Amino acid sequence: MIMSNQEKLFHDKYEEAVKNIGSQFGRKYAMIIDGQYIHSSQNFVHISPIDTRIILGYLPSASANHIKQAILAANKAFENWSRIHHKQRIEICRIAADIMSSQKFELAAWISYENGKNRYEAIGDIDEAIDFIRYYSKEMETNNGFIVQTKSAYPNEKSKSVMKAYGVWAVIAPFNFPAAILVGMSIGAMITGNTIVIKPASNSPVIAYKFAEIMKEAGLPDGVLNLVTGSADKVGQTIINSKDVAGIVFTGSREVGYKLRHEFNKLKPRPIIAELGGKNPVIVTENADLDQAAGGISRSAFGYSGQKCSACSRAYVQKSVKSEFVEKLLEMTKSLRVGNPIEHATFIGPLINSTAYKNYQKYVKLARSDGKVLIGGSVINDADLKYGYYTEPTIIDGLPKNHRLFREELFVPLLCITDYEDFDEAMQLCNNSKYGLTAGIYSDNEEEVNKFLQNIECGVVYVNRSVGATTGAMVGCQSFGGWKDSGTTYKGTGGPYYLMQFIREQSQTIVV
Ligand code: NAP
Repeated sequence: MIMSNQEKLFHDKYEEAVKNIGSQFGRKYAMIIDGQYIHSSQNFVHISPIDTRIILGYLPSASANHIKQAILAANKAFENWSRIHHKQRIEICRIAADIMSSQKFELAAWISYENGKNRYEAIGDIDEAIDFIRYYSKEMETNNGFIVQTKSAYPNEKSKSVMKAYGVWAVIAPFNFPAAILVGMSIGAMITGNTIVIKPASNSPVIAYKFAEIMKEAGLPDGVLNLVTGSADKVGQTIINSKDVAGIVFTGSREVGYKLRHEFNKLKPRPIIAELGGKNPVIVTENADLDQAAGGISRSAFGYSGQKCSACSRAYVQKSVKSEFVEKLLEMTKSLRVGNPIEHATFIGPLINSTAYKNYQKYVKLARSDGKVLIGGSVINDADLKYGYYTEPTIIDGLPKNHRLFREELFVPLLCITDYEDFDEAMQLCNNSKYGLTAGIYSDNEEEVNKFLQNIECGVVYVNRSVGATTGAMVGCQSFGGWKDSGTTYKGTGGPYYLMQFIREQSQTIVV
């Protein structure tokens, strides 16, 4: 393979970073509360899904008292942080983006070890995080801190609309985008003047710790960002029960998001931004470029082992082209290399943990009994891979169209495929889901594409995309949000309306 100088530099830097971070494995981490490094008498061990013999670190298990202290610190810091000029907040965020950029390869290497992403996905995760910081900074700047002079009722009065922060937000993040999503949610809350308590996923806490340190280095005042780790239930319950938490910004599963929303609003009505799961469909019509469709669908179904909220998990293919399409899809799938994600050639790394690994085996067993496994279906036990959670990309045919595997979010590399007779049936199959996150279509027929765009019930949709049928790298200015059970708000992550969710309006009238 011939590489350009730029590509070589990219790979050299990533590989050097992989070597460099090795010396940090196994260290003991602290929580960060009010700018202080706080240890706990209880810790949990953090292992790598690449190879479970690698201990990445020991993280503190927060007690309820630690979580209360973090909320208190955030509450105390709120007064100053919310009142300083928004330009000062922007300046700190921009410095943080620059620091993150200078540490990009090291942070990406950490992501590979923490959650098993290959080098391209890991660097993409960091790039998205940096892009969110820069985009939200620009949004604050362009909108003048969301302060608008308005007309007034009387000539001796001056009026303006001022958007103000709420107070303390809990930031609860998933394992699969430990930088982009955690950083995006945190910056969204902080840049608008709120203070935060972060609870990272227990499978990816080190990246969260690194982000907290970067913010500190950038000049963030103590108490604005607090980081606690440990039991999800304990953190969740303490947050829910605290009258001092003004809002929650959460990304994760539908089950946890719904529970949090329900419980959090029992005490009093409070904002909760929740971006949830997906069961993302794609339609391939007889008017599609089948090579393009096979490439885009295999990448979306199996990229990061199907562990993306936007992963393609249902394919509806017009009967007349199904066998030709399946042949191409199987060829594409065979070409995707499963292996250690640190290695250059690897496309598919491991699953995140033993629960996901067991789930994969359970779903495959069900698929074998109710349908037909066209490719894959096994865990990988060769050589060193037996120490990680590696599984084969799997395609299932022959299931009833309303089968459990067509309905539930599985979060493993498993794609269900079936045929359809006419386009209306395909649309109905796509929309017959409680989820509504992403969807795609492959067709060169304008009428079909228009019908899809008019009728699909999802927040993010793609047409004829070869890089990914239902997934794709995001930039900050693009919104990514779910409809139906895939999200509890009407504005997505990123995009022009995101920041508005962290602020509330005050109309000010002054007699002059
Ligand atoms: P998860 O199990 O719902 O966990 C998400 C976060 O919530 C983690 O930090 C978890 O902590 C915490 N948590 C779990 N139970 C809690 C409770 N009772 N109270 C408070 N916090 C609690 O999801 P995940 O497995 O990390 O991520 C995968 C899910 O996220 C999928 O459903 C995926 O579709 C969704 N997702 C959605 C988007 C989107 O933009 N819509 C993006 C990415 C992921 P622990 O790690 O300690 O359990």
